[in-house]
Amino acid sequence: MEMPVVRECTVEECVYNRDQACHAQAITVGDMRHPHCDTYLNAPAKGGDPNSTGRVGACKVANCRHNEQFECRAPGITVGHVESAVDCMTYAPA
Ligand code: SF4
Repeated sequence: MEMPVVRECTVEECVYNRDQACHAQAITVGDMRHPHCDTYLNAPAKGGDPNSTGRVGACKVANCRHNEQFECRAPGITVGHVESAVDCMTYAPA
């Protein structure tokens, strides 16, 4: 099974973000209640691999319709700001 790709992330202040794309090898999403990007890090440095696109390594939001056994099965996700949070925008309550 391929890990879903992060198609777009508008959170430019994250260290893994360049040009509205995620370059973390694998992000973790959420806890049991909220679909936030758990890998988000606001710092002046830039990290990740600029030549690869981020993927979803794990998702802990079991009540999303794309979630099976705490893995994301969506073909891809987008991430962005929701008020003060940094959230998976593909989250859809089951
Ligand atoms: S998906 Fe998460 S880790 Fe990747 S750039 Fe966006 S906020 Fe950062």
